[in-house]
Amino acid sequence: KSKAKRFSRDEPGKTFKDIAGSDNAKKDLTEIVDYLKHPEFYQRLGAKLPRGLLMVGPPGTGKTLMARAVAGEADVPFFSISGSEFIEMFVGVGASRVRNMFEEARKESPSIIFIDELDAIGRSRGAGVGGGHDEREQTLNQILSEMDGFSPHETVVVIAATNRPDVLDPALLRPGRFDRKVTLDRPHKQAREKILEIHTKAMPLADDVDLAAVARRTVGFSGADLENLANEAALFAGRDDSKVVRMKHFDMARDKVLMGAKREQNLSD
Ligand code: ATP
Repeated sequence: KSKAKRFSRDEPGKTFKDIAGSDNAKKDLTEIVDYLKHPEFYQRLGAKLPRGLLMVGPPGTGKTLMARAVAGEADVPFFSISGSEFIEMFVGVGASRVRNMFEEARKESPSIIFIDELDAIGRSRGAGVGGGHDEREQTLNQILSEMDGFSPHETVVVIAATNRPDVLDPALLRPGRFDRKVTLDRPHKQAREKILEIHTKAMPLADDVDLAAVARRTVGFSGADLENLANEAALFAGRDDSKVVRMKHFDMARDKVLMGAKREQNLSD
């Protein structure tokens, strides 16, 4: 376990084209992409880069994907870590991982740091059960001090994702920290159809497949649910020994994904 990677570093791969819908979020992020591409140009103008950006939205709406796409569009390295990894870590380990990651990102600037599940470490201090979350608090403090310590020529943007912005420590939202919010919503009908198109691109579809109809029948599905649905449809086709994926496979897949979602809901409340 001690040899586990401290954080992951990816070459950019995703772009805005891989994301259907979320047009407002893309528009907001274009400014940051442009800055990351031409930092000197902006710095000469005296423009400062927004340091931290909070990506807010329900599970599976593409927060991680969107952060990756910002890196891809700007063609800069992407460093990521997840808040949930810090739970049950020894005191000091979380803070040192954060320090290392920021150091690497600075070295390779312009770059992006992505912190998934920020709420796992960024909960309001003192709100924990039983208190004494030393580790979590140290990790959070390290993130804050790293963000405060950026110098103007260091072109590093920190993007954090959460589906619980309401529980975040207010210290995280102060100016110079995560002071910008980008919201991702569950996709509306047209976006659902486009998401289905993206995730069935490599599938041989039968002529009877009507993705617009599938989109109409999947109100409330997230992008991740739709990706899952497309894959389940292909699996049903395989089980049917069919060389193409038919509409009935999409219908079966929809029922299966819906059942799964219902089961999860029953478990959690
Ligand atoms: P979580 O909160 O559960 O971490 P998330 O919001 O970070 O989820 P992602 O992990 O980015 O969501 O999304 C999961 C997958 O769902 C993506 O890798 C992508 O394949 C698909 N997906 C989600 N939204 C979209 C979208 N708008 N367009 C295309 N694919 C999408």
